[in-house]
Amino acid sequence: MLSQKTRYTIRAMQHLADHYGEGPVPLVDIADTQNIPAKFLTVILSELARFGLVDSQRGREGGYWLAIAPIDITYGDLLRTISGSLALVPCASRFAHETCKNCLPETECRVRALMLQVRDATAQLLDGVRLSDPIALAPASEDETMMHPDSPSSLDIEA
Ligand code: SF4
Repeated sequence: MLSQKTRYTIRAMQHLADHYGEGPVPLVDIADTQNIPAKFLTVILSELARFGLVDSQRGREGGYWLAIAPIDITYGDLLRTISGSLALVPCASRFAHETCKNCLPETECRVRALMLQVRDATAQLLDGVRLSDPIALAPASEDETMMHPDSPSSLDIEA
């Protein structure tokens, strides 16, 4: 799963993309609209500035804006920049490859073989969506089904 920090970061970037070309966006606007704790957002925005994704201006009229046009930022690139990888396991990462403790030989590991397919499918999807693209919201009923305590789960499959 994406970490809380990664989710905040994506929401902050989406907010800045929504206001691209309108001048500096005050931190408090991003924090209020996106429901991100201001202190945490300050850290996130300085990291984004270090990555070259965000510029800022201090002062009363100050704020933050995207350093790159939202049409030139894909969700794939954004996630690779802020999380290091799209892979669910480090040995399936193209750019941040690592092995875990007590590793099997990679060519004999079915977990890795499967996660390589997950990584490729994820990259294919996320590299095709840009920060400027509209994203259709998930229907409420789907969320309710997923969160409902009586909804089928993996435990039901075993029953
Ligand atoms: S055990 Fe499998 S999944 Fe874990 S690091 Fe080794 S190859 Fe990757």
